[in-house]
Amino acid sequence: MSLFSFSIPQNITFGRGSLDKIPEAVSRMKASKAFIVSGPHLSKAGLVEKVASKLKEAGIPSESFTETEGNPSTDTVEKAAEGFKASGADMIVAFGGGSPLDVAKAVAVVGTCGGNITDYEGVGMVPGPVVPMIAIPTTAGTGSEVTSFSVITDHSRNYKLTVGSKYLLPAEVILDPDLISTVPEKTAAYCGVDAMVHALESYISLASSPFSDMCALQALELIGNNIRAYVADRTDQHAAEGMLLGSLCAGIAFSHARLGDVHAMSHPVSAFFDVPHGLANAVILPTVVEFNAAEDNGKYYEIYKRVAQIAVSKDTFTPSMLVNELKALNKSLGIPNSLSKVGVDERMFEAMAVDAMKSGNIAVNPRKTTEKEIINLYRLAY
Ligand SMILES: [Zn+2]
Repeated sequence: MSLFSFSIPQNITFGRGSLDKIPEAVSRMKASKAFIVSGPHLSKAGLVEKVASKLKEAGIPSESFTETEGNPSTDTVEKAAEGFKASGADMIVAFGGGSPLDVAKAVAVVGTCGGNITDYEGVGMVPGPVVPMIAIPTTAGTGSEVTSFSVITDHSRNYKLTVGSKYLLPAEVILDPDLISTVPEKTAAYCGVDAMVHALESYISLASSPFSDMCALQALELIGNNIRAYVADRTDQHAAEGMLLGSLCAGIAFSHARLGDVHAMSHPVSAFFDVPHGLANAVILPTVVEFNAAEDNGKYYEIYKRVAQIAVSKDTFTPSMLVNELKALNKSLGIPNSLSKVGVDERMFEAMAVDAMKSGNIAVNPRKTTEKEIINLYRLAY
């Protein structure tokens, strides 16, 4: 066993109705005014207003920015950061799916340290602490509430840049399963598979540890158990709880063990063709799982048991059973089976592979991967 360390520095509150715990969480943050970063749907649904009223209960006035889009851009970060600075707020509420959480983290950096978010691209480039954040996810999920990463699209170069820093970790997290009961079916499917990919990739990552494995396996169990029921009926409370908890565990796993080729390859798909993150991952997943089978270190069997929810003996298991199970799961969730069906143009594969190779996730993928192999994997997934 190699040396490993772990840290989960946040206060995490989980459970139905935990949105009511906002005043308690905020009281620990010692702030005087909040800036809420959210999305247009949550604003229209009156939920941003609900969060604002909970802040008010704690004596915290707030302003909000609700214009985050899917695959949020550097321009959006700039706009939101201007709003944050003008507001005079000293804390940020990240409220929504992966996009508002990514934007909120980027705003915290730019709002505190100045400049543009591109100045902080890479890992460890944020010079010091940023304004404290409370994260309240409304999808299950990106796990962004417990990760030190923000991913922002730079349209000037069709590139999804990553800012990674321990200072991006929200101080407080509230996970209320009631919040994910109104998610549209497609979003539930994309986000659910994304969370499963987080668990799967971190579990087979070269940077995995007994601690991250524990979280990843728990996540696979919870997601395997609940994803079909949750996507079919988002008001199924038991399934929603399982998915939100699974997404949290997967987030903790990959914040320690990172990811792999699926995420390295999906970011260019989203950056070039504006394909939702979870959908891009889901479509690429079976191809990469097949590619990695030669280096699965016996872990595919553990994944299969949890995703397929079938008892099977180790002797009769083959990696192709997992590949087929993942294809079947995608199909049952209404996810297309090829990149050609989600608007990807094969003429861009070489440029996409160059960007995929820049991802830090390539280095921890269990099977060593070259640029040529990435191009080939794009072809196979096409
Ligand atoms: Zn992801």
